[in-house]
Amino acid sequence: MYQGTEAAVGPAAEICERIWLSIAERRLRPGTRLKEEQLAEVFEVSRARVRQALAMLESDGLVTILPNRGAFVAEPGVHEARDVFHFRRQVEARVLERLTDSIDETAIPRLEAHLALEREADAKGDKTAIIRLSGGFHLLLAELSGSTFLVSMLRDLISRSTLIATMYRRQVDHNCGPDEHAALIEAIRASDLAEAVRLMDDHLCHVEDELDLTEAVSVLRDLREALV
Ligand SMILES: [Zn+2]
Repeated sequence: MYQGTEAAVGPAAEICERIWLSIAERRLRPGTRLKEEQLAEVFEVSRARVRQALAMLESDGLVTILPNRGAFVAEPGVHEARDVFHFRRQVEARVLERLTDSIDETAIPRLEAHLALEREADAKGDKTAIIRLSGGFHLLLAELSGSTFLVSMLRDLISRSTLIATMYRRQVDHNCGPDEHAALIEAIRASDLAEAVRLMDDHLCHVEDELDLTEAVSVLRDLREALV
């Protein structure tokens, strides 16, 4: 996930974000071939820049690069999907531990400001903003914990869980939803770690419960159609 993070700037990161959003919005399906020359044309950049972006996406688990065959949107298997959600729960719990242990006075207002944006996007039905903001809430928690390690772990896990959700979700369109985030903010405000971890666990289970980890639907779509 690349949105709203100071670490990811520059043309390659912008390409990554566009591709990530296309995956999250189900316009770009797992297994789709990502042709360098087409991407260079769509994004109006050099092929070297495209290769740089594809390498970044590969390290985040969103793209698979096969020798002599090219790059494809990754298709994580069922076991990997379970592992990703398992570790995401551990990392999010650690973030909450850090946050409830010593919370900065600016943290709650920042979380509330983010929540306000989520409610606004929800009211407008702005799908792209909803996707960015719901993942962004979790990243903001990690940023507020002050650990760059937890931020980078969580960014990786969120981008992988986004791809997994598009592959295995029974129903289209699920995002976190501001109400569960609001409850999490309250638990953090009260420095109630047990309640915060319980809420987060339930919250992530709601996402995971919607996944059918027994089969995958793979529909290939034309790359150009998906990206423009
Ligand atoms: Zn959430």
